Amino acid sequence: MVSRVIPVDPFDLVIFGGTGDLAQRKILPGLFRRFVAGQMPAESRVIGAARTELDSAGYREMVVEAIREFGGDFTYTDKQLKDFLGRIEYTPIDALGDAGWADLQELMKGKGRTEAYYFSVSPALFGELAERLQQWGMADRDARIVVEKPFGRDLESAHALNATLATYFNEDQIYRIDHYLGKETVQNLMAVRFGNMLFEPLWNAQFIDHIQITVAETVGVGGRGEYYDKAGAMRDMVQNHLMQLLCLIAMEPPARFAPDAVRDEKLKVIRALDPVLPHHIVRGQYLAETGNEEKMPSYREAVGAPRSRTESFVALKTHISNWRWAGTPFYLRTGKRLSARSSEITVVFKETPHSIFGEDAGRHRNVLSIRLQPNEGITLGVTIKEPGPGGMRLIDVPLDMSFAEALGQDAEQVDAYERLIMDVMRGNQTLFMRGDEVEAAWAWTDPIIQGWEARNDVPKPYDSGSAGPDYANELMRRDGREWREVTP
Ligand code: NAP
Repeated sequence: MVSRVIPVDPFDLVIFGGTGDLAQRKILPGLFRRFVAGQMPAESRVIGAARTELDSAGYREMVVEAIREFGGDFTYTDKQLKDFLGRIEYTPIDALGDAGWADLQELMKGKGRTEAYYFSVSPALFGELAERLQQWGMADRDARIVVEKPFGRDLESAHALNATLATYFNEDQIYRIDHYLGKETVQNLMAVRFGNMLFEPLWNAQFIDHIQITVAETVGVGGRGEYYDKAGAMRDMVQNHLMQLLCLIAMEPPARFAPDAVRDEKLKVIRALDPVLPHHIVRGQYLAETGNEEKMPSYREAVGAPRSRTESFVALKTHISNWRWAGTPFYLRTGKRLSARSSEITVVFKETPHSIFGEDAGRHRNVLSIRLQPNEGITLGVTIKEPGPGGMRLIDVPLDMSFAEALGQDAEQVDAYERLIMDVMRGNQTLFMRGDEVEAAWAWTDPIIQGWEARNDVPKPYDSGSAGPDYANELMRRDGREWREVTP
């Protein structure tokens, strides 16, 4: 099945940090794919902006490299690449000084296209960029800014950043990225919940035993050690990505699929979250990988801090105090150097109240698992009779829908970033975090982190390639439950 591509209006996108890692790995290849797909109109322009002294020709070479290295497996013609490069420009600029701003202002003058400015730079520069855009007359009412994560490191800093951005831009001009929201399956989560009659009547504490959200990575901190050691898994993953998934799975049906209708409901979920009790949370830190010829460093070696107390793993239990969810625990888990790369939401329904098939048949429950990566798809475990003449024995089998298989190759191709950038151009903020949502998420996260700091909490070590510290399993076992296995 080939998806229908509706072109957006012609735009000018300035990428501050256009020479950086994110621009090269995601933003530029993503834009090229949208160009080839016919969604980025040929009159549009992409303008790289960073301190490196380059001319547009030099930048185009960098763009070609980025497409070759990170563009993924898709076909395009030489002409398409040439045409795309014809839409690329570069202007050197310093976010912290006046250098280059007059040139950018000149480039952006009166073209009458959608104007967007992507802040793909260190968060320390977000406020500076907003201020300079205003000073140089580029923060007019139609301009949009795209702000990368992390958005603050606690409630106070997020509040201050929101206040700074609000000085120069209205909330409807600010697009705070959480790329998890751009994933196909995450949107499908809403389609499944609110587009089917089947699930919503059962979507509450009466029928759902518990919900698990796991975001497992096999990679370690890599080159991000310096940043990561100041952040940790709680700030880097839970406060944003896992929180957003929790909101979508738990929110009330919005009246419309419209930005504020959806975000109002998400905010209510965050505000209804119970504080996390100290014995309902486990922090971990990965150990060096042994066994392989090439030894992978431990977390502490990777960040170069032999006594670091930063967590590379978190597992926690929380509750949502409202009518729908009172009594249903939500278990969240994320970590680095785990056994497989896998992001999954698992909805475990309650057991049937009574088994008509007798004790031998066992007790069964339906499990809906929504897989975000890899192999995006949805599986519903249903109980059937075991085939054969062995009597009325029951087994659980998956009703499986792999999106790649069901929808064809085209469904796999749209990366979260390219979808989100197109949403910016459409002016659709549904999949972007609103300022009050981000602050509410920090308000819930802050006391957890402050508690660790006050107690000088030391994360539990765990083996690389495992499912995290055994304490995380204990968290479940105490409740008579178990985590879904982390599988690729
Ligand atoms: P990066 O590789 O360090 O790139 C930073 C960019 O900022 C470079 O293009 C750099 O170019 C430019 N820059 C630095 N100082 C500047 C200044 N004073 N004025 C103008 N430009 C300046 O960082 P990144 O990994 O691309 O990350 C960018 C943002 O995305 C960060 O907020 C990060 O947290 C976020 N993010 C990144 C990823 C990822 O996968 N990389 C994922 C999620 C979020 P010059 O040195 O040429 O100025």
